[in-house]
Amino acid sequence: MKIGFIGLGNMGAPMAANLVAAGHEVTGFDVAGVTVEGVAQAGSAAEAASGCDAVITMLPNGQILRDVYAQIVPAGQAGAVFIDCSTVDVDSAREAAITAEDAGLLPVDAPVSGGVGGAAAGTLTFMVGGSDKAFAKAQPLFEIMGQKAVHCGPPGNGQAAKICNNMILGITMIGTCEAFALADKLGLDRQAMFDVVSTSSGYSWSMNAYCPAPGVGPQSPADNDYKPGFAAALMLKDLRLSQQAAESAGAITQMGGRATEIYERFVEMDEEGRDFSAILPWLSDPAKV
Ligand code: NAD
Repeated sequence: MKIGFIGLGNMGAPMAANLVAAGHEVTGFDVAGVTVEGVAQAGSAAEAASGCDAVITMLPNGQILRDVYAQIVPAGQAGAVFIDCSTVDVDSAREAAITAEDAGLLPVDAPVSGGVGGAAAGTLTFMVGGSDKAFAKAQPLFEIMGQKAVHCGPPGNGQAAKICNNMILGITMIGTCEAFALADKLGLDRQAMFDVVSTSSGYSWSMNAYCPAPGVGPQSPADNDYKPGFAAALMLKDLRLSQQAAESAGAITQMGGRATEIYERFVEMDEEGRDFSAILPWLSDPAKV
């Protein structure tokens, strides 16, 4: 396939490299001038998109996605699949899809989970919104860049699934950190706390797979001075998107709202850009909370 790839940052660069390794002809563009071995460099987003069977975008936010789509949709080849893997607001995703569909293209929103490690290893999970036809055309590329793709429904539903998942993640991480902080004050050993909760009804991915307490449970960013991992600023981005979507859809998400406020405060106070699980050491520093 001839593929255009726009946005070759921390995630986009390794994803594009995996497509090249699988034998596809990839042309890339990034405003920062990033180059990736094996990826031909275009002079603009429109140039990268023109004449391609598939165009993939991996961009920072919804406004940039809208701007880039305004350039690449007119350059798209009829019937090409347009795969947006960025995490953006649901409204921008739906608007981008409408613009692309009106131009005879096959758009999907396909945000990912798995982070930079998953992008490099080709083990991302894609949450996909779009028509059956568009999903089917994108599927072989998801198989190269990831290990799982779930078709969540019409355009925007991939982003909806992503922000619902990450709202749960933000809430459970804060709850898990607060429980450890409470256990500390009550004189309950962290290992004992992990042994009980990880096999009881308080278990979650935050506790079992990504434990915020160093030296407890499987290896996690807590064991590496809370270097990300998943930076708190990215968690905050996703929580804000969840609250924007909740407001727009009229959903009541009180815990999501509180989690957003807590991460806003944490990101503002934390000078090291730590992982989102560093809420735990932060809670033991009352002057900063
Ligand atoms: P990044 O900032 O490293 O990469 C974004 C790239 O887009 C940059 O290289 C930037 O120069 C480029 N860009 C910006 N405007 C552009 C334009 N107009 N035209 C072309 N290129 C442009 O970010 P990232 O970590 O690669 O994340 C990309 C997306 O993936 C974000 O939406 C993020 O929320 C999401 N995401 C990131 C992770 C992660 O762990 N990093 C995990 C899941 C999802």
